[in-house]
Amino acid sequence: MDHTSTSSFEAVLGIPEFVGYIFVFILGACIGSFLNVVIYRVPNELSLLPGSACPNCKAHIRFYNNIPILGWLMLGGKCNDCKQAIAWRYPAVELLTALVFILTFWHVGLTPFLPVALVFVAAMLALIFIDRDHMILPNVITYPLLIFALAVRIIFPIVFTESYFSDISSPATMPMFGYPPWVMSLIAALFGAIVGGGSLWLVGAIWKLLRGVDAMGLGDVKMMFAVGALLGWRLTVLTIFLGAFTGALIGSVVVMRQKEKDLQTQIPFGIFLGIGSIVSLLFGDRIIGWYLERFM
Ligand SMILES: [Zn+2]
Repeated sequence: MDHTSTSSFEAVLGIPEFVGYIFVFILGACIGSFLNVVIYRVPNELSLLPGSACPNCKAHIRFYNNIPILGWLMLGGKCNDCKQAIAWRYPAVELLTALVFILTFWHVGLTPFLPVALVFVAAMLALIFIDRDHMILPNVITYPLLIFALAVRIIFPIVFTESYFSDISSPATMPMFGYPPWVMSLIAALFGAIVGGGSLWLVGAIWKLLRGVDAMGLGDVKMMFAVGALLGWRLTVLTIFLGAFTGALIGSVVVMRQKEKDLQTQIPFGIFLGIGSIVSLLFGDRIIGWYLERFM
């Protein structure tokens, strides 16, 4: 996950860099449109096919109105058939996904890791919004994401000589014990998964012992298994730190604004872990480097 001169879009394809950004923006908006369908249908156990439909009258959205972001604007935010308002969140998710894709492309560059990183941030965005809407993190997303992460961690060191994982890039850890790189990568992935999922499970178990209530859903644990496997233990610790910090901050604001104080209010922690994991993927190595330089 380092910037290298060879990862520049212009250097690889000989096409100006901004063309790459435009392409990634359009790709992100289209994936965002698909994520809207996922966010709406997966928790309700509906099929992902056919494509976008009006949430009110179920009329199929015509392809020329289905252009991400612009389609909603052309329709004036209303369904063409039943004239019911279509929530502004739909184009907002498309725009957000496009912007996160742009940031990912900027950070990762045109490398073999780019599609992996894009799949990861797309899955995280889906989980963030599903957790916000339904307070669940569906297994149909977290399990495949964990398998995907482990497969990437095994296959990448076999196929590519360059390391794309910050937890095993340092020469100090790489040739340890004479194991082939893919074994070290898998061990690092499993360690990251245990750090991510295991620590959340432990916090939940201790909380349950002390307070007798479930503070943490198992969905959060499964989500962090996947995050830990792909990002490695360092970025996973940062993810949990960022998630806990922003979660506590937003959570206390929510509780303070409540009329009746209820400290049992459930907070969909997956939102903050999801945001934390995206920030960790994009800026984590920089944040950790800055922190170590400053305080160690
Ligand atoms: Zn309609």
